[in-house]
Amino acid sequence: MSLSSSQVISVEDVIASQRDVILEHWMERIHRALQPDAPPRAELLDHIPRFLDSLILAMRLAHSPAQESAACWAAQAALKHGELRLREGFSLDTVVYEYGVLRDCLLTLAREQGLKFLPDQMRAFTECFHRGIAEAAIVYLQQHERELRAAGAAAERQHAHALLAAILDKTTDLVGALDTDFRFILFNRRYQQEFETRFGTRISLGMSLPDALAHLPEQKHRLVALWGRALRGEEFTVVQPFGDPAQEDTWYELRYARLEDAQGEIQGAFHVGRDVTAARKAHEELDLHVQERTAALAQANARLRESEERFRATFNQAAVGIAHVGLDERWLQLNQCYLELLGSTEPELRKLTVRDVTHLEDREKSQSLMRQLLAGELAHYTVEQRYQRRNGEPVWVELTVSLVRDASGAPSYFIFAAVDISENVRLYQEAQRAVHLRDEFLQVASHELKTPLTPLSLKLQMLSRVAQAELSSITARRLQRDVEVMHRQVNRLAELMDDLLDVSRITAGQLHLNPESVDLCVLTREVSARFTPQATRAGCRLQVELGCEALGQWDPLRLEQVVSNLLSNAIKYGAGRPIHIRAETAGNRARLTVRDEGIGIAPEALGRIFHKFERAVSERNYGGLGLGLFITRQIVEASGGSIQVESQLGRGATFIVELPLARPVDTVSHAAG
Ligand code: ADP
Repeated sequence: MSLSSSQVISVEDVIASQRDVILEHWMERIHRALQPDAPPRAELLDHIPRFLDSLILAMRLAHSPAQESAACWAAQAALKHGELRLREGFSLDTVVYEYGVLRDCLLTLAREQGLKFLPDQMRAFTECFHRGIAEAAIVYLQQHERELRAAGAAAERQHAHALLAAILDKTTDLVGALDTDFRFILFNRRYQQEFETRFGTRISLGMSLPDALAHLPEQKHRLVALWGRALRGEEFTVVQPFGDPAQEDTWYELRYARLEDAQGEIQGAFHVGRDVTAARKAHEELDLHVQERTAALAQANARLRESEERFRATFNQAAVGIAHVGLDERWLQLNQCYLELLGSTEPELRKLTVRDVTHLEDREKSQSLMRQLLAGELAHYTVEQRYQRRNGEPVWVELTVSLVRDASGAPSYFIFAAVDISENVRLYQEAQRAVHLRDEFLQVASHELKTPLTPLSLKLQMLSRVAQAELSSITARRLQRDVEVMHRQVNRLAELMDDLLDVSRITAGQLHLNPESVDLCVLTREVSARFTPQATRAGCRLQVELGCEALGQWDPLRLEQVVSNLLSNAIKYGAGRPIHIRAETAGNRARLTVRDEGIGIAPEALGRIFHKFERAVSERNYGGLGLGLFITRQIVEASGGSIQVESQLGRGATFIVELPLARPVDTVSHAAG
């Protein structure tokens, strides 16, 4: 550095006079420090002169009365300079260096000029640089910090934005946002693709929605209206296809809302769309299913109601008494018929148990049956018993009781069904009385009627003998024939009387047998022989087949009665045709078979002809009391045997009697062929 050698009196004067030289020198060094190869930059000098001026002023002030503010002034100047430099983009190093250059330059200049800094000047001078450097550093740091913060926030924003974009792109939802001018400010990849597929426009950021849909006026109108609502602050959800609602089958749940920043400034609006096609389909299916089920349920309900009504009607209007009874035997519910039966009202009966209304004599039986039902020993039971009506009268009922069990099989309640059989019982008792009276009458009548038969029979025998003595006379011969006829009639009458007497005995349980050793074959032969004339008269040929011997312990008179009854029936109902009689042994039984070829018996009558007074023919055609087979069966069964009949109408009848033999027969059969 070269300074002019003119005499100066103070440092500031020197600096002031050497201003340009200083600046040039400074400039050169700074430039070199900053950009060694680049041409010098004029703007670098811009405010150096001002700084220099401030410095000179500060130094002048330093030895004036205002010296206190000199340092301050210098510092201000330095600070200002530093600030400007930093704002220009100088680094703090460069600013510090710049101060150093200036300081060196000034000190060198002063030394070369042989000048000395006054102490105050030196202080101001040094302060100027020190404070300048320090303040500049603070400014720098503050500025730098701001920059860092700004840069950090920007980077953060960028990072967050990138993250958000990545998330949005990954989501299958549609995400789109418009600014207040309906321009896209955000959308994810799915949104872009879907928009392109549905509307044929590839959207980009900044593109306006109306422009993107310019070719689809209807859709444009629809979507602008929706976005408009969101921009006005309405938050809402629509479920519809993303594209044309009329044509598409992909449904979205689109939520629209306004977009505001942290300060509440309206930035636009956005919508988020979730694909709800599957859910909607499932929902529709569910809906359909629910509809079907509801309809089915309604139908079932209607049916149930109907059946309940039917049940109630059946329950209430049934001609039989129906009641539900609890396990504690209390009446739970009774229909009208049951109430009438018991002559009581439902509220009254609810206070009572089954036991309370059951007739004293029937209580034990009724209780026992209910216990058996509860124990599962009976599935249900029917019993004839009496109830005690409220007015004390007994009433006969036929009662059927069953037990209702719950799903687990535990007893739940009883169902009682009662039919009033008082009338039946009365009629039955009356009938029984009538039968009893009839039997009594028959017994007396048969006795009384039989009494004159014996002398009548004797008189006829006498008459017959007289007639036989006079057989030469025509009158006597005629008399003889008439007497024979009368005799047969009297016998027949006696037989009928005997039958009646037998029935009375049987009914009274007084059929007594006097068993002795009897051969069925012999007995059959004798009886058959006795019947031959009668059979002949009826045009029947008796074909008798007899085994060797069929011995048993039977009452011979009664057995005769059995064979006689069967033979006389065969002759009566098989007149004009042969009759086959067979007596034999079969296993350990003696067997008598009487077969005719007569009118036969209808299948429905087969079961009843063995009962008292039962007949299968009209009285007009065939006489009889319907007692023969009854007595026959009673005798056979009392003898330990059985009787069966096989017959078809018009094809004859076969009666088979089997009786136990006296001792087991070891040979297979003695039956004659
Ligand atoms: P009945 O006095 O009427 O013959 P029975 O008790 O001997 O009384 O017979 C009862 C009924 O059985 C008869 O009325 C008749 O209808 C039928 N019956 C009995 N034996 C014969 C038979 N051999 N052939 C056809 N019907 C017979």
